[in-house]
Amino acid sequence: MDRERTPPPVELLATMGVVRVPVPVPFIEAGGPANVYVIDEEGGGLALFDAGIGTPEGRAALEAGFAAMGRSLSEIRRIFVSHGHIDHYGYARAAQDASGAPVFCHVRDHDKLTWRDRTDERLQQYLEWLVRLGADQALCESVRAHHDLLVTMARPVEQVLPLAPGERLRFANFSAEVLHLPGHTPGLSCLWDEEHRVLFSDDHLLEAVSPNPLIDLEGEKVPRHRALVEYLRSAVRVRALPAQLIAPGHGAPFANHVQLIDQLLGFYARRQARIVELLGDGPLTPAALAPLVFPRAKRSQLFLILSEVIGNLELLEEQGRVARREVAGQFIFERTGAPPV
Ligand SMILES: [Zn+2]
Ligand SMILES: [Zn+2]
Repeated sequence: MDRERTPPPVELLATMGVVRVPVPVPFIEAGGPANVYVIDEEGGGLALFDAGIGTPEGRAALEAGFAAMGRSLSEIRRIFVSHGHIDHYGYARAAQDASGAPVFCHVRDHDKLTWRDRTDERLQQYLEWLVRLGADQALCESVRAHHDLLVTMARPVEQVLPLAPGERLRFANFSAEVLHLPGHTPGLSCLWDEEHRVLFSDDHLLEAVSPNPLIDLEGEKVPRHRALVEYLRSAVRVRALPAQLIAPGHGAPFANHVQLIDQLLGFYARRQARIVELLGDGPLTPAALAPLVFPRAKRSQLFLILSEVIGNLELLEEQGRVARREVAGQFIFERTGAPPV
């Protein structure tokens, strides 16, 4: 492939036997419609990289996309889900019902697809953890409401097969390596086609918005997933890829991923500096810090902003710039006086 000339994205994806079908999602934070990548399989049939969302609008958009291609959902042979968020797996079960295709996803996100992560017991674990982060009643209620809303946008997948890091997936016109890039979720995986230098980045890399590093308990009382610490490590890995095109999980494909990642790293460094500054007035819980960092956040965004703040605090903690103490069942963070790294 000619390194000097970047073919228009649609042309390049067409060469690879890939059609992007955007489906609408009802969350403004997502960064636009979610992309379903429909891929020609070797020997006929189709694969999906992400399956869209199970709302009537999502379903209509996917069916319209298939109709425009003159194809049918029954031709799907394999369904790959990049990560366990509703806008990426929500329609997987319906696509499976239409085709009998197996569903693959990294094991650390399986519980999201099967809804083992959607039980009352798991919800309770989240609420208890949020209280330790200083959450009040309003925040807990918004998490509960979100939990109830999401179950209307998908059906659980009964059996999910593992999508292994380093595995090579062969399609009709290209093959891609599975890259496990934890951060946005613990199991998030991207597809990397080295020959065409295309990265299917799902929500790891988006042009319009920074991907939310969300609190994720994975069924534990205390999370082992430090979302932002891992996200930034993954971003540095992706920065090193010689990609000419990023085919993201939301929005149109784009180039210049190195520039985008550098902007993102700068953005997080500034946010951490702001948090350290805010802690200058004394120790605070993450939940008390969140509205100071995001004074214009809406009620529906309370979980997002708390996730963002605890993510940055974990990073600052790793750098030795803040320290935590637990007082009366709540974490409070304070400055250590260590210089920025
Ligand atoms: Zn996501
Ligand atoms: Zn998404």
